[in-house]
Amino acid sequence: MNILVTGGAGYIGSHTLIELYKAGHTAVVVDNLSNSNPVSLQRVAEIIGIPEIPFCKVDIRDREGLEKVFAAQKFDACIHFAGLKAVGESVEKPWEYYENNIGGTLILVDMMRKNGCKNIIFSSSATVYGDPAEIPITENCPKGQCTNPYGWTKSMLEQVLMDIQKADPAWNVVLLRYFNPVGAHQSGRIGENPNGIPNNLMPYITQVAVGKRKELGVFGNDYPTPDGTGVRDFIHVVDLAAAHVAALKCFTQAIRQSSNQTFVYNVGTGHGYSVLDMVKAFIRVNGVDVPYSIKPRRAGDIATCYCNPDKAAAELGWKAQYGIDDMVRDSWRWQSQNPDGYPEN
Ligand code: NAD
Ligand code: UDP
Repeated sequence: MNILVTGGAGYIGSHTLIELYKAGHTAVVVDNLSNSNPVSLQRVAEIIGIPEIPFCKVDIRDREGLEKVFAAQKFDACIHFAGLKAVGESVEKPWEYYENNIGGTLILVDMMRKNGCKNIIFSSSATVYGDPAEIPITENCPKGQCTNPYGWTKSMLEQVLMDIQKADPAWNVVLLRYFNPVGAHQSGRIGENPNGIPNNLMPYITQVAVGKRKELGVFGNDYPTPDGTGVRDFIHVVDLAAAHVAALKCFTQAIRQSSNQTFVYNVGTGHGYSVLDMVKAFIRVNGVDVPYSIKPRRAGDIATCYCNPDKAAAELGWKAQYGIDDMVRDSWRWQSQNPDGYPEN
């Protein structure tokens, strides 16, 4: 298939490009580079062994820019990663988050339908479950109250895409609810490259390990979990990338049931690891120290979040292959080989 990959220069998008090409697909990346560096695409091309990844520096809110992309070629599907993702920033700048994530997706989807491409895989998140009603979380678990505008953009966009599919059954919509992506490609050439102080646990750990930050703050050790720290379903980004390739099956006749529909999948490993499990595994596997201290709980955090990934296994034939040791080893390889992230292009 020829795939339009929005946000393809970013963390998950860049890893997904490799899995797409490995599986025989081709891709065109649309990204405004607001949170990424085009060097990631050069490195993806090196890893795949092709001269370059077709790339258009276009904002998904730019109709004319998108029209040119669609006029130049035909796409079988879109994998839609583009969006702003910093939880804390979304609380301070809700308008910007709703405008970029929701406004951008509405324009993208409009341009897709006008150009005859009605297959979309959307990057959703476990955050749509709110404080989950059941653990492990299945796709039947009701959606919950999000604690920030970023989460609401994901929850609302799921509804928007479902409604569009219901009104026009020619659409095929796949909602992938990611759990906690960590790790990096085994080459150490691409990885997560956060701007400023990392919000997420793993990039914070790696930046402490490489000496860029003094110590990790562990947000709370009084949760009702085995060691008191938060438990999450960490998933290797290469496994997450492979889930997108598997999800393309939803667009072929073979997997379709009686009529087209919205497909919803949890994308996690099904295992919960605590914050301290991750820190200890990182120290053990990599032989580097990660000083940490216990801090108060972070507002909006829940105690435990991990999924039941059986639906994706049964319907897509996808299952996570990598374990916690792979996750911490590959995160460290990327950070230690690229202490300052990607070089300026
Ligand atoms: P990322 O920031 O590395 O990648 C997103 C990319 O989208 C960036 O390259 C950015 O420049 C681009 N972008 C943003 N707004 C755009 C616009 N208006 N037009 C064109 N490009 C735009 O983030 P990521 O971690 O790779 O996440 C990819 C997707 O997965 C996002 O939608 C994110 O919300 C979602 N997600 C991420 C996580 C996570 O923990 N990383 C978890 C759940 C869901
Ligand atoms: N966390 C932490 N210190 C940090 C960042 C995160 O203790 O500097 C904890 C956080 O409280 C949560 C877990 O690590 O229990 C995962 O947080 P992250 O922000 O990576 O992902 P989330 O599950 O919130 O999307």
